[in-house]
Formats: sequence, structure tokens, C-alpha cells
Amino acid sequence: MYSGFSDFLPADRIRFNEPMKNHTTFKIGGPVDIMVMPRDINDIKAVLSFCRDENIPFFVFGLGTNLLVRDKGFRGVGIKLGRNLTKMSISGTRVYSEAGVRLSDLSKKAAAHSLSGLEFAEGIPGSVGGAVVMNAGAYDGEMKKVLVKATAVGHDGKIKDFSLEEMKLGYRKSIFQDSSYIVVSAVLELKPGDKEKILAKMREFARRRTEKQPLEFPSAGSTFKRPEGYYVGPMLEKMGLKGFGIGGAQVSEKHAGFIINKGNASADDVLNLIKYIQQKAREKFDVDLQPEIRIIGEE
Ligand SMILES: Cc1cc2nc3c(=O)[nH]c(=O)nc-3n(C[C@H](O)[C@H](O)[C@H](O)COP(=O)(O)OP(=O)(O)OC[C@H]3O[C@@H](n4cnc5c(N)ncnc54)[C@H](O)[C@@H]3O)c2cc1C
Repeated sequence: MYSGFSDFLPADRIRFNEPMKNHTTFKIGGPVDIMVMPRDINDIKAVLSFCRDENIPFFVFGLGTNLLVRDKGFRGVGIKLGRNLTKMSISGTRVYSEAGVRLSDLSKKAAAHSLSGLEFAEGIPGSVGGAVVMNAGAYDGEMKKVLVKATAVGHDGKIKDFSLEEMKLGYRKSIFQDSSYIVVSAVLELKPGDKEKILAKMREFARRRTEKQPLEFPSAGSTFKRPEGYYVGPMLEKMGLKGFGIGGAQVSEKHAGFIINKGNASADDVLNLIKYIQQKAREKFDVDLQPEIRIIGEE
């Protein structure tokens, strides 16, 4: 059944039994039956139509920076956008970007055009597609504040434009998380600004990240969403969990809001650590911590 992909994708765009740990910043994850790497929107349409016709389950991902894939991997197709679909252009204050552009590259390009609004994205390692789906944000910004529309391909292979309202963006949330749409591009509206001030702000954000975040270890960024009235890092510190580990997974000693892979962590190690933290947070703070990272794969 999977061999049908080679009717429309070249061999170097298809991998069988591919370990997801090679495609996530967590460096964790079992094999996906088949991974396909579409080159453009037409490839995406063809992949989705084939999956629909053959009734093959699929998931899509960008740069795998917010992803935990379970140890058994995924039965079906992983559609990796990765560093494909990387066109971007700027006209006045309007920015067009395909989904595979690195968000921090887009932020640098905007700065080079003296456009303000994407400074927050400096240092967010994901793709523009992933940032739309996650409504990525940091410091004083988030995608919701700059997005005008996104274009996505549906399971039926049809292209649909989503207005800002239709995307239903909330805190690390969007309508795309509960749909089979693949975001292929986005349009952003930025503001004219002073290039030096924009670059200074980006440098300051980068400095804070290097100082506070455990960038020297594999991770998927902040593990949990911020619960109302709390910050996750200090909360875990108060619970005495800084540095606490299960197997190869550890609550970072540098920033307790991050679970890091100290070496050979399994997805089970991370999931058990998440459950343990959630239980402690319920007991000590009566707070229900929800993962920000996206968890996929066979249980
Ligand atoms: C060190 C570090 C720091 C980070 N800091 C931040 C931060 O400050 N703020 C923040 O918000 N995030 C942060 N993140 C998390 C992450 O970079 C963002 O969530 C990013 O937007 C995810 O993009 P991605 O391409 O890696 O998505 P992936 O991890 O590949 O996918 C994330 C989710 O989006 C879906 N998805 C991805 N692309 C598409 C698409 N084109 N169409 C449909 N669905 C898609 C996937 O199915 C998955 O559910 C950090 C991560 C790391 C490792």
C-alpha cells in the first residue's frame, strides 16, 4: 500500500520505518511506518489524496521542536515539511511566508526591512507552519498579534484560506490542532520601525534565552502551558523538582519549566515525569498542569 507514494514522490523523499528521534529536537521517538517529505503544495495535495483514498492515518510536522513521539512510533505516514516550502516575500508592511520557513529567519528578514512585531520570534526554533498551529509566542508577542491569514490544504486536497478569526488562536492553541488541515503559508502584518531598536530588542531576547534556557540539552521547549496565576518554573522549584529525573528525562536545573533529554531518554521516561509532576502540582497547588508539547504516536 505504501509503495504507491513512489508514483508521485522521488525516492529520496520517502523513508520507511524512520525513527522520529532523528527528526525532533527532543531526540526522542520511535519509528514512523513511512515518512514522506513533500517538496511543494502539489506534493502535499497528492500525499493527502493518497492517504484519503487508501485510508492511511497521517500526521504532519514542521521542524519537530514542540513534539514528543511515543516509543512505539506511529502506524501510518509522517508528513515532514521540514525545510521545504521556504518562499518568503515582503511588500510594504505585509509579509508572506510559506510554512517551512524558520520563524526566527522570518524575524531576521523582517528586521532587515525595518519591520517590527516579530522580535519575539528570535530564538523560537520552529517553522512558520508550526508557529501558526501553536500560536507560538514569547515575551511581549505572539503569532495572533501579527497574523492576517493562513492558507491550508484539507484532507480533500482543497486549499482553504483562514482569516484571523477563523483560526481561533488562543494561548498555544489554534483550530488546526483539532483538524487534518496542513498549513502551507501565512500572511503577517507588521509595523514600520527603527531597525536598530528592532535588532537591539532581538539581541536582548536572545541573551535572555541563552542565560535562562537549557539550550545545551535536547528538549521541546516549555513542557507545560502556564497555568493562571503561576509560572511553571518557580512552581516546580517550590515543589523541589528542579533537577528531578526519571530515566534519561530530567527537569532542567537551569529552567525547571523545561524537561530535557539528559541522554537516551525514552518517551516513556518523559511521559512518566510529566505524570509525576502533574500529580505533585495537583497535590501541592491544586493546579492541573497541561502539556504544551504535542504528544503523538502509538500508546
Ligand atoms: C529550545 C526551545 C525553545 C522554544 N521556545 C518557544 C517559545 O518561546 N515560544 C513558543 O511558543 N514555543 C517555543 N518552542 C516550541 C516550538 O519551537 C514552537 O511551538 C514552534 O512553533 C513549533 O514549530 P515546529 O515547526 O517545530 O512544529 P512541530 O514541533 O513540528 O509541530 C508542532 C505541532 O504543530 C503541528 N504542525 C506543524 N506544522 C504544521 C503545519 N504546517 N500544518 C499543520 N500542522 C502542523 C504538528 O502536528 C504538531 O502538533 C521552543 C522549543 C524549543 C526546543
